[in-house]
Amino acid sequence: MRLGISALAGEIENAVRTCVEKGLNHIEIGIDNIEDWEHVSNEVDNIVNAGISLGVHLPMELNPCERVNEIRACWERFVLSNVQIGRQFGVRYYNMHLGYALERTAFCKREVLLENARSFLSGICNKLDSETITLENSYSNGGDLVNLGTRTSDFDKALESIKSEKIGFCFDTGHNLICEDEYLQYLGSITRVVHLSGNDGVRDLHLGISRENGIGDELLAELLGLQRAEYYVLEMDASYYKSSISKINELVGRQFKVE
Ligand SMILES: [Zn+2]
Repeated sequence: MRLGISALAGEIENAVRTCVEKGLNHIEIGIDNIEDWEHVSNEVDNIVNAGISLGVHLPMELNPCERVNEIRACWERFVLSNVQIGRQFGVRYYNMHLGYALERTAFCKREVLLENARSFLSGICNKLDSETITLENSYSNGGDLVNLGTRTSDFDKALESIKSEKIGFCFDTGHNLICEDEYLQYLGSITRVVHLSGNDGVRDLHLGISRENGIGDELLAELLGLQRAEYYVLEMDASYYKSSISKINELVGRQFKVE
């Protein structure tokens, strides 16, 4: 098991320092533009020396279910360009959401959108090497544009007939508190990454791990026991790291430093 934090590319130096201080060994880095890799490149020696593994969170605007074929093909090229560059840094996985659409389209043509995502994913996974793609559950508050990936059936459709080991699931506890479904029951066996954060069930507040914030010990134990999950990411304000790491230490009987 690897435990780490999320960070924007421009914050990677600080994130490496935090990992070293707290004995963490993973960073999920947000890459929005190819130029962002420059930040990773500048820190690569410190990352390697500290034994830190890297995952990448692709841009929130990435839209695997995009309706316009040319734009979707462009996103596919963008993902593959990142995968190519990430190989020199040993990036383990690329995390993405299923995408978004106009509300009416998401309501009336959900199947078509999810078929787009399926085709996007199968195109990418044919070109992967040792890295994996993870799909994260999302939430939607409604509006002109709404997110997909807000229920287990979305993932069933997007992954239909893709029998690749190269695609897994990323379970986000905070998103599930806002838009709940039986993700662990249906996708637990392919869950590779867990994003840990709590909230009030309405807003994605990125609070720490506690029963009051929606993550009780039973849920945390279930998450830590997922057979194929390797990367646990504290996706929360830094002020919650200490208490959250303590909770995890209690359950895994291993000491990640908390000071
Ligand atoms: Zn997340």
